[in-house]
Amino acid sequence: MEPLEIVTYPNPILRSPAAEVNEFGQQLHNLLDSMARTMYLANGIGLAAPQVNVSIRAAVIDISESRSELIKLINPRVVSHSGKVSSEEGCLSIPNYRDTITRHEAVVVEAQDEHGKDLKLTAEGLLAICLQHEIDHLDGILFIDRLSRLKRELFQAWLKRQQGDSR
Ligand code: ZN
Repeated sequence: MEPLEIVTYPNPILRSPAAEVNEFGQQLHNLLDSMARTMYLANGIGLAAPQVNVSIRAAVIDISESRSELIKLINPRVVSHSGKVSSEEGCLSIPNYRDTITRHEAVVVEAQDEHGKDLKLTAEGLLAICLQHEIDHLDGILFIDRLSRLKRELFQAWLKRQQGDSR
């Protein structure tokens, strides 16, 4: 499978709520394989379909250091959560920017696998954070949206400098 190009901010597809997946055929399987390859090549721990320019509710995650615990999620949603935790996050669609985000500490996520079978994940720690980050992508939400107003202004200033540099 060829790796895919990762869409970066401020591409509008990153802001569009993605469509529910209803077909679990070869096309979806190929996309998930390509997404996994793309994520591994970019050294990411998660990648959502809108980040490769496909606006459907699909994501891949692998938080393991061995890069051998791939999770493929279709139509994932948080069904319950508890606690609060702050940690530093980054995003393959916003290269070179990291900041501290507060999220739920633990989540229960319901989803389907690549064949349409129901899945339920109970997660805490890094996996819980990654799940929330990827599910946000499917709703057109980026981690920078969860920054305080002041920090968002700092991000915009940072972005301007980046764009200035590349000119
Ligand atoms: Zn991201």
